[in-house]
Amino acid sequence: MLIVMDHQASAAQVDDVVAAVEKRGFTAKPIQGGDRVSIGVLYNQGAVEAAPFLCMPGVKEIIPVTRPYKQVSREFKPEDTIIRIGGVTIGEGHLNIMAGPCAIESEAQALTIAGHVKEAGAHIFRGGAFKPRTSPYSFQGMGLEGLKILAQVRDKTGLPVITEVMDVETFADVEAYADIIQIGTRNMQNFSLLKKAGRSRKPVFLKRGMSATLDEWLMAAEYILEGGNHQVILCERGVRTFVRHSRNTLDLSAVPVVRKESHLPIIVDPSHAAGRREQVLPLARAAVAAGAHGLMVEVHHEPANAASDGAQSLYPEQFAGLCREVSSIYGILNNQELQPERKNRADADR
Ligand code: PEP
Ligand code: MN
Repeated sequence: MLIVMDHQASAAQVDDVVAAVEKRGFTAKPIQGGDRVSIGVLYNQGAVEAAPFLCMPGVKEIIPVTRPYKQVSREFKPEDTIIRIGGVTIGEGHLNIMAGPCAIESEAQALTIAGHVKEAGAHIFRGGAFKPRTSPYSFQGMGLEGLKILAQVRDKTGLPVITEVMDVETFADVEAYADIIQIGTRNMQNFSLLKKAGRSRKPVFLKRGMSATLDEWLMAAEYILEGGNHQVILCERGVRTFVRHSRNTLDLSAVPVVRKESHLPIIVDPSHAAGRREQVLPLARAAVAAGAHGLMVEVHHEPANAASDGAQSLYPEQFAGLCREVSSIYGILNNQELQPERKNRADADR
């Protein structure tokens, strides 16, 4: 249940409502919205009676929160969550592009790719230092050395960096070096890791489990918000289906549904969905057209020699083309001013 306060409600009236909620044995969570405070009622088993709160001074209305997830829901917080990392913004009004190799392989490899993706217009550099691999015999990532390389990339390019955390043991190291902490598809329901991420002050990028329902995914995000960390970015990366023409099936319908159900930003990863380079661009176009707030794309300058996921990694020039195309699509959908030369062409075509 959400108790919405009048926009003129005083701090004392908010405190009184919080006290009244807690007197009944529930937890009250005040949320500052655009022009008013709302108070979320949590830890209630079953429905809470609204009448006693409705007649309290300063209370405007009571909204029942019908979803199993509370704090991630739009019912709970109608305004979009916007996340800022230095000069980079993730969320409404911005198309954010994260790009880089699947894994950090060396300083030279990371800096070369970072230079390419920055030039093409990426906002954030990605690269795994701890890699979750199906086979124990595959490259497992550079670990701490990889994190240090990511810090160098940030220093040299100015791009914030995102990297995956695999377990609670290495959480502190990843948290120290990363600007955004990624929780991968295989760990979406690692509840100890989610609780740990909930206590972090860094934004968390939560990939959808490869066979998770939307409710399970949003409930996983709920763990992080419930821990006190409200900076969560959701990522759709494809789900496991029967098809063999792609590595996973990109569930694009998740984009509008997540946007409807939650205030959290949603990014699409076409690379892990496709598993094949030639599908990445069409899926990226479609993701932006469907309303994604951004993309995560794997890029490698020598994909044939990549330590992991070379088959789905774009060549730098392909990535530059992708950036141009998706920013045009985003611009059309969001009525952004056309670039002068494109506008002239559009006028001439009329
Ligand atoms: C990755 O982003 O490198 C990764 C392993 O992704 P996923 O968790 O989606 O498989
Ligand atoms: Mn990968």
